[in-house]
Amino acid sequence: MQNTLSEISAHSFRDEAECVLQLENFIGDFSGIYLRARKMAEELVIKARAEPPRLFEALLQHYPLASKEGRALMVLCEALPRIPDAATQQELIRSVANSATWKSGRQGAIGVASNVAFGLIGRLAGMKALNAVSPLFHKTAAAIIEKLAGGFILAESIESGIAKAKKYEEKGFLFSYDMLGESARTANQAERYSKSYSDAIKKIGAQHPTKKNWREKPGISVKLSALYHRYELLKKDEVVEHLLPKLLALAKEAAQHNILLTVDAEDAARFDLYLEIFGAAFTDSALAEYSYDGFGLALQAYQKRAFPAIDYLLALSQKYHRTIPIRLVKGAYWDTEIKNAQMAGLKNYPVFTAKENTDISYIATAKKILEHTENFYPQFATHNALTIAIVSELSVGKKI
Ligand SMILES: Cc1cc2nc3c(=O)[nH]c(=O)nc-3n(C[C@H](O)[C@H](O)[C@H](O)COP(=O)(O)OP(=O)(O)OC[C@H]3O[C@@H](n4cnc5c(N)ncnc54)[C@H](O)[C@@H]3O)c2cc1C
Repeated sequence: MQNTLSEISAHSFRDEAECVLQLENFIGDFSGIYLRARKMAEELVIKARAEPPRLFEALLQHYPLASKEGRALMVLCEALPRIPDAATQQELIRSVANSATWKSGRQGAIGVASNVAFGLIGRLAGMKALNAVSPLFHKTAAAIIEKLAGGFILAESIESGIAKAKKYEEKGFLFSYDMLGESARTANQAERYSKSYSDAIKKIGAQHPTKKNWREKPGISVKLSALYHRYELLKKDEVVEHLLPKLLALAKEAAQHNILLTVDAEDAARFDLYLEIFGAAFTDSALAEYSYDGFGLALQAYQKRAFPAIDYLLALSQKYHRTIPIRLVKGAYWDTEIKNAQMAGLKNYPVFTAKENTDISYIATAKKILEHTENFYPQFATHNALTIAIVSELSVGKKI
């Protein structure tokens, strides 16, 4: 058992092979689960492929993510909706258009739409001067990209997000709303993000007034880096002084509205601080006085510390007799983690360097979480059909 923060920290840069051996030993004989999961995953994939592809999927088939064009489209989808002024938007469209070779040629309704997009992007690429981009081209390109970005962004505001979610909720889906707030760069921005989170909690909380259990209601995800502009390792005292009260205030609001609040997992460098802040908020008497156990966190399986961190969280839950909701993810910032470790000249990485090792870590950590469902409320976030199937197999017979 590693249940102190410094014990978990010691795993940051452990030898990868050693970590994997420990994880494999914990998983044990896996062959039966794997065979059943593979079959289920194949069925899931066949079912998903039978659905007519949406514009976004059609575009990705045309321009896979591994291609220059696919990556260029992702850049546009991610960045364009956040740029407030038309001139900068045009500049981005042009620079992305110039960065790749666009081909067209698909048939059908999606084909027509994507051909419009490709043709447009190709045409923009051919234009030399920024002022040669006509407002009509810009508008059409922006509209298409907005439609594509819709694959990632539910809505522009929490109100319209809640409205859009209704038809899915009727089918039994639950939502965790993520505000697109990135890291705050200034105190004003941090203030604005905190207020948006607080407003969102009230609006989400006002939904489903008859449901008493947060497990049956939508929740919210919160980024610590959005709450405080100096969320930095070297400013730990300041972080505790300024960020902790903000997180606590949001957690208390979530408790009052009885909705799930999950603290998003961010970079590995601040993982120890992340756990410490979470632990401090979890054990604070201001939160403990509510009979609320919907304050949770996300854990990234690509980190060598994910598996040992479960021991720390288990000890916390046992000591305070409160469930901790955990959302297990693989981790969204792998490239950045590798780059950061290389830039810092570290002799090892805080994340696994082989994709299959992240998968092994995910399976072992999922198994460990599912062994303690009296302490953890397990949530598994993945887009991978095989991972979904393995988690379903691991969950058989568990009381959740
Ligand atoms: C509801 C929800 C909430 C999420 N919240 C968070 C969050 O709070 N924090 C966060 O970081 N992410 C979050 N994610 C994103 C998540 O971490 C993954 O990036 C994403 O879901 C893709 O993982 P997968 O299991 O679907 O994909 P897969 O395709 O099975 O795996 C891709 C993942 O493998 C890992 N990987 C890729 N290459 C390598 C390599 N060479 N070595 C080791 N590992 C590698 C990376 O983690 C990569 O994301 C969330 C996702 C969802 C759906």
